[in-house]
Amino acid sequence: MDMEMEFDERLLSARTIKNEDDSESSLRPHRLDEYVGQDKVKENLKIYIEAAKKRGESLDHILLYGPPGLGKTTLANIIAAEMGVSIRITSGPALEKTGDIVALLTNLQDGDVLFIDEIHRLSRTVEEVLYPAMEDFEFDIILGKGPSARSIRFDLPKFTLVGATTRSGQLAAPFRDRFGVLCRLELYSTAELSQIVKRSAGILGISITDDGAKEIASRSRGTPRIANRLLRRVRDFAEVMGNGVVDMEISNMALSRLEIDHLGLDGLDRRMLEAIIRSFNGGPVGLDTLAALVGEESITIEDVYEPYLMQLGFLNRTPRGRCVTKAAYDHLGITFPTAQNHYQTTLTDQE
Ligand code: ADP
Repeated sequence: MDMEMEFDERLLSARTIKNEDDSESSLRPHRLDEYVGQDKVKENLKIYIEAAKKRGESLDHILLYGPPGLGKTTLANIIAAEMGVSIRITSGPALEKTGDIVALLTNLQDGDVLFIDEIHRLSRTVEEVLYPAMEDFEFDIILGKGPSARSIRFDLPKFTLVGATTRSGQLAAPFRDRFGVLCRLELYSTAELSQIVKRSAGILGISITDDGAKEIASRSRGTPRIANRLLRRVRDFAEVMGNGVVDMEISNMALSRLEIDHLGLDGLDRRMLEAIIRSFNGGPVGLDTLAALVGEESITIEDVYEPYLMQLGFLNRTPRGRCVTKAAYDHLGITFPTAQNHYQTTLTDQE
């Protein structure tokens, strides 16, 4: 009883439950049909949800992975809504102690969704509570110490764990294996992002033309969160410097002022590519060296910047380090070293 009370108190603490940013949550689609793109993931989820509902069972545990801002949190909320169950939202770093996760688990109802964002950042001890919880819906608590210690087993409701991560490779294999469904989210196409921008404009009461939406979409690095953020910024320019309508001209002007080029690259992307070209003749260069060169954290470069540069075909990850491609040289207007002028450049450098 005492233990239950302690858990309840913990549950209410802001530490374990993630607070939603209001501006972002207002734009979240609530049903699978409103969720734009990711067709393969959507089709499969639809089937799993329908099957679980038909059998009257809870949904299998689901791992969503992909770069930030692609809609993992949104999808977790949609899964709960489609199943008609409640969702508890937390994140890996917020769950510090065994008690934190136990408090959340014991307060769920059958079928509920527990969403853990950044699940690769869970501590090992919390992860170990999750193993039996995910597999057999139970957990053990050890009471006392030494020879008098005894373990008590608790049954848990049949919940669904939805985990989100930018790096599924960092999850221990036994943990990853306990998820019945693995969904990889992909960067969005310009057409899909245009649809998202128009939908968001509708919700925010912004007038936008098709061209304006396309312009924002094509400069949003395949990422809905960025598209929504740019839409808000362009609206500011449209209201102050234009007639309030977000069209192609005002979008182009605003995004250029924000130093976002026509492919969506920002200052840091360009600095990073230029650093590899100027200081390392196009690479290979190690991630940490690159991070130090541009003054950004390695993790951010790996999770946020590189996926889009690789999708554009501007950057390759090789076992020896990062290499810039000819397409990136062309985009930056720098001459690509052919065997001959590479030799000359090296000679000039040495002189
Ligand atoms: P993640 O959890 O992957 O970082 P989020 O779920 O928080 O990403 O999504 C970021 C924002 O992008 C949300 O506010 C949501 O409005 C928007 N968004 C993401 N995916 C979609 C989608 N498929 N359709 C419409 N909007 C989306």
